Amino acid sequence: MPTAFHTRIAAELAEIDAQGLTKPERVIHSRQGPVIETGGRRVLNFCANNYLGLAGDSRVVQAGDRAAEAYGAGTASVRFICGTLGIHKTLERAIADYLGFEDAILFAAAFDANGGLFEPLFGPEDAIVSDSLNHASIIDGVRLCKAKRYRFATSDMADLEAQLKQARADGARDIIIATDGAFSMDGYIARLPEIRALADRYDALVMVDDCHATGFLGPQGKGSFAHHGVTVDIVTGTFGKALGGAMGGFICATTPVVELLKQRARPYLFSNALAPSVCGASLEAIRIAQGEEGDALRAQLVANAARFRGAMTEAGFNLLPGEHPIIPVMLGDARLAQDFAARMLELGVYVIGFSFPVVPRGQARIRTQMSAAHTFDHIDEAVAAFTTAGKELGVIR
Ligand SMILES: *Cc1c(COP(=O)(O)O)cnc(C)c1O
Repeated sequence: MPTAFHTRIAAELAEIDAQGLTKPERVIHSRQGPVIETGGRRVLNFCANNYLGLAGDSRVVQAGDRAAEAYGAGTASVRFICGTLGIHKTLERAIADYLGFEDAILFAAAFDANGGLFEPLFGPEDAIVSDSLNHASIIDGVRLCKAKRYRFATSDMADLEAQLKQARADGARDIIIATDGAFSMDGYIARLPEIRALADRYDALVMVDDCHATGFLGPQGKGSFAHHGVTVDIVTGTFGKALGGAMGGFICATTPVVELLKQRARPYLFSNALAPSVCGASLEAIRIAQGEEGDALRAQLVANAARFRGAMTEAGFNLLPGEHPIIPVMLGDARLAQDFAARMLELGVYVIGFSFPVVPRGQARIRTQMSAAHTFDHIDEAVAAFTTAGKELGVIR
């Protein structure tokens, strides 16, 4: 056994720990939901991407069970060999119809969707113009592609225009602007009307990663582009957040784009097909999300976010402004954010502190996430716990 290697790895771990950056795993012994069981007790949960509360919904769970009964545990194959099931075609049709696209392709995760999207579609003659705060999976997907890369300061439309101008001046064949539809650390929604207008001016495509939007932003929860009333060319998203919370990613686009991805996208060609249970659960989540019940869940989510924002502002906390159910409580200091989250758990509310390098230095925060499954009592309890911890730790008076 090469000891030098293992010694180096152990030293790197110790260094991460010394900087206070170790991310422990908190073990949960219940379904995902507004109340979860951890550490031998029940606590309120304000850090899941369970925006519509469907992850623990019995109808979604049972739809997954039925699909597993019908199709088995899985395909033991990639899609193009013997891994394309009827339920894959049904799910691809359902997500494309829901979001208003011609076609869709499934991946094992949105991480793979973003990882597999760019390389087949764009070559060295092309340009990708990417928001600086884009999700890690977009950054990796762009790295795997030979297109020229341009980066604009997050949500900075003047910089976006400068980058588009540069890409055109450099002779780009096709240009695509890539952005998160909603940015996960701030809850900011991408400025899509301006992005679309700039894209049209410079003859560029727009790609949106709507992982933190599909199911709950905009009419019928179609996402950030619907929220803004604009069209985009390509949407990537996940079934692992609002749409049931299981796992699995997708790309929605025109039929030729989807067809080419099915021939060339490496995570699609070389990785197992999505499990039937995941497809069944996701289909049921889409059914709920796009109907009248979805409207009621979205109204509850908006009401919960407004109640939390109002009470926390009243209590004297500094929140980032916005209208997304991600509501960051700004604390500044990394150690303070950690201590704050630990105290919150003692008070019965599970939240997570985020600090550098996930967010800029000096902008540590507790990122709270509302769910339609939270009741007003849950919201009020969370605000009371924040107020207690905030006074103890000198954040509010
Ligand atoms: C969560 C997330 C992903 C990854 O989704 P998975 O399906 O869990 O791989 C990709 N992009 C963004 C913006 C996300 O928030």
